[in-house]
Amino acid sequence: MKFSRIVVILIFSLLLISCTKDISQKELEEKNEINISTAEKEENLQVSTEPEEIFEVFDIDQEHFDLMNSKSFHENDFITINDLSLLKVTYWGFDEETYHGELVVNRIVASDIIEIFKELYENRYPIEKIQLVSYYDGDDNLSMEANNTSAFNFRLISDSDKISNHSFGLAIDINPVQNPYVSNSVVAPRNAASYVDRTEYRTGMIIEDDICVRLFKEHGWTWGGNYKSIKDYQHFEKIITGIND
Ligand SMILES: [Zn+2]
Repeated sequence: MKFSRIVVILIFSLLLISCTKDISQKELEEKNEINISTAEKEENLQVSTEPEEIFEVFDIDQEHFDLMNSKSFHENDFITINDLSLLKVTYWGFDEETYHGELVVNRIVASDIIEIFKELYENRYPIEKIQLVSYYDGDDNLSMEANNTSAFNFRLISDSDKISNHSFGLAIDINPVQNPYVSNSVVAPRNAASYVDRTEYRTGMIIEDDICVRLFKEHGWTWGGNYKSIKDYQHFEKIITGIND
């Protein structure tokens, strides 16, 4: 009787050990699965925070036309929506992270801008933000105050009744807060006053002979920082015969 009791206890103990083993094996496998899925998640996260480089030219699709219409684009006698291209570019933010941005320019200069922004990216040139001005209702002041880099916008030159080269998609403004428009007492945007003084370089400033100015000049563009009467440090433009000459 005693012996059989011992046997029963032994068998029970053995069963318990094997069962515990199974559970711990299972737990291990589950843990591994969790580790694998966490690793996969981290990998996915890395992909989304570090986007791949993109430098591409597109036609203006319906979605972007709807976004632009009656904000940055208005029916006019000078330019049609088919004269414009949508560019997608990658750039380095002030926080040294990479981002994707969209620009609308005249299709004639699309390859200029792609080449320039590719070189700026490869040289880690800091740009704070690149969004279509339509996200600011086509209001240049709001876009500038947000330090937004943008190109096409059907509008007049500040303080005048002349059509701006931005209206032809043949001008671009880069980092407007660090590179204001300065004319006598007018500074635009209004939050850029501390950047009228150009003696000391700060992140985002465009200065004579820096890579940004050199690249635009190489592509036949002029820089507003070289104007004599006023200064428009954010502004680059190109004159194309038969369009804006
Ligand atoms: Zn401009």
